[in-house]
Parts: sequence; C-alpha cells; structure tokens
Amino acid sequence: MRKLQMVDLKSQYDKIKSTVDASIQEVLDTTTYINGPKVHEFQKNLEEYLGVKHVIPCANGTDALQIAMMGLGLQPGDEVITADFTFAATVEVIALLQLTPVLVDVDMVNMNISIEAIKKAITPKTKAIVPVHLFGRAANMEAIMRIAEEHNLYVIEDNAQAIGANCRFSDGTKKKAGTIGHVGATSFFPSKNLGCYGDGGAIFTNDDTLAHTIRGIVNHGMYVRYHHDVVGVNSRLDSIQAAVLNAKLPLLDSYNAARQNAARSYSKAFEGHKNIIAPSICDICDCHVFHQYTLRIIDADRNALMDHLQSKGIPCAIYYPIPLHSQKAYADVRYKEEDFPVTNQLVKEVISLPMHTELDDEQIKFITDSVLEFLN
Ligand SMILES: *Cc1c(COP(=O)(O)O)cnc(C)c1O
Repeated sequence: MRKLQMVDLKSQYDKIKSTVDASIQEVLDTTTYINGPKVHEFQKNLEEYLGVKHVIPCANGTDALQIAMMGLGLQPGDEVITADFTFAATVEVIALLQLTPVLVDVDMVNMNISIEAIKKAITPKTKAIVPVHLFGRAANMEAIMRIAEEHNLYVIEDNAQAIGANCRFSDGTKKKAGTIGHVGATSFFPSKNLGCYGDGGAIFTNDDTLAHTIRGIVNHGMYVRYHHDVVGVNSRLDSIQAAVLNAKLPLLDSYNAARQNAARSYSKAFEGHKNIIAPSICDICDCHVFHQYTLRIIDADRNALMDHLQSKGIPCAIYYPIPLHSQKAYADVRYKEEDFPVTNQLVKEVISLPMHTELDDEQIKFITDSVLEFLN
C-alpha cells in the first residue's frame, strides 16, 4: 500500500508532470514573471469555468478576502457577520481592517453558517455577511442572499475550500460557489481543491465597478501608472503559479469527482454506525467537493480514535479544535457560550480523514477498517 498522507501532492504531480513542467518552462523562457500572459490566460480560463464576469488574481486567499472587503468600502466599526467554525483567516481580515467581526454559530448538519444565527445577529451597524463554504460544501446561498437583500447587506463568499462546488437554487438553477454573493474569494494554497505550488488566490465578482476598484487595490491603488487614487496593497499571483494553475484547471472537475468518489467509499463503510455521523453526499448538484472529509464521532472517544489511527500510520486532523469566539485574538465580551452550542459541540466531535485526489481503494479500506476496529 502506498504511504497514507492527509494530502498526496506528489502522486498527483507525477501524473501531470509533463504539462505542468512545460507550462512553467514557458514562463522561464519568456521571463514574464509578474503579470505575464500566463496570469491573464488563467484569469480568462477561470472566468469561463466559473461563469463569472471578473476574476482578479491575487497573492493568496487571505489577501483575497481582505481586498474584497476593501473594495466594498467597508469602514471601521461596520459589523461583519461570519461563522464561528472556520479557519481564522476569515475573521482575521475583518479585524485587521478594524471592522467589527460578529461570530455566529453554525448549522449541525452542513457545518456552515446558521441562517437563524445570522438573522439574530443583524443590527443597524451590520454591513456584510461572510459565509464560508466549509470543507467544500456550499453554504445555503439562497437563504443568505435573501437575508442580505432584505437588510441591504453585502455578501462576501469565502470560497477557499469549495472551488468548483455548485449551489442549487429552488428554481432548479445552479451557480458555482463563490460567484453568487457580491464578491467571492478563493485560495490556491497547494492543498486546496485547485492548488498551485506556492501561494495564490483570486477574487470573483459580476460587478464591473467593483472589479475595476479591486484591480486597482491589488496594485497599490493605481488605476493609471503612478497615480494612487486609493490606498492599495501589493497582492499578485505570480506567473509561475498561474502556469501551474492553467495546467491544473482543466482537471479540476475530475479532481473534485475523485474526492467525491473517495467520500462515497468512506461513507459506505461507515453507513449506519452508531458512533459515526458521516457527511451526506448530494448526487443532484455537486454542492460538496470534499476539501475535507469530516466525521462527527458521537458517544465515543474522538481523541483516542485519533491516537489509534496515528499509531497505524493513518494521518488525521481536527479542523478546527477551538471555536473562533474562544480564541484570544477574537474574544469579545458580547459573546455568550450559549450562543454557540453547535460550534462548541463540533470542536469535540469532528475528525477529518485523509482526503485528496489520489486515494485508492486499498488505502480507503485500510482507513475505514481501522476506524471501525476502534469503534467496533
Ligand atoms: C485556506 C483558507 C483561507 C486562506 O487562504 P490562504 O491562501 O492560505 O491565505 C481562508 N479561508 C479559508 C476557509 C481557508 O480554508
């Protein structure tokens, strides 16, 4: 059996080496390292893939979120509602911009921001909602957009974990996660569903004016060379990363399908087990692209299971062990423990198993057998 890894980037690279290497070589041959044609080509290809008017590449997913918020003109003191159960980058940029983060609880079934909790958190100061499509599963964008419209709020989608996922609407239409809110942000960190070989990110929007504003912000606030109209940042996707992404984008759907297949095999083995709640897999809309495969372990010792798996050479992880409202950096007297029952429970129950494009049947069977052997 091949060595088990949380993410197996080497086996994936071995299969695409010739295309990726050729794409990188073109950049080396032309020395167009910054804002070269590869970046533009990737931008166009991603716009087409997502069905969105504008993609603005940038340096990483955290920058993408920050720049999206800067582009919307959010001001210090504006309240921004986001999920308590996510990676810290989401709340970090809100705080950095001196906006006021308002963390709210998540939904027990899809682990995404709770619609009821959003409604309860809205005040006259609320300006935006940041749903996170956590672990690759699209949040309930239809409900979120409805609330946003009612209260005149911006929606900034954190799509770092769900590129390629579809959101399905009640009229039967589908849209790609990240393209539904006023603006979306993604990351091309190597382990993400579409990963480059370094850092990378992008911002998506269908709004021409916002796209123009953001294109200036990523480039020192310049719209005309050496004329700085707004305070910007330096956040660029470099051409070598764009070359990697251009080679990998045509494979994204097959990569997501490979993740879904692995998830199906896992879930089949765990079906009906009294101690395991496996993520549900929706066959009609591809709303979950399994950035992570995350179980809830109930009435059993999750940490001992983790030790058991690790002793057998099976990597696993707790995403995320501490709710954001309990983190020193984001604590706030307004938060009460009783407002976060779901996050507080999830941090004790969740465990993520190896998930990537290269898992084979033998590996999956070894992993599921090992989980079941412990829980018996
Ligand atoms: C990875 C990630 C980010 C940040 O992306 P970077 O490219 O690492 O800056 C933001 N939000 C979520 C939910 C993520 O998983």
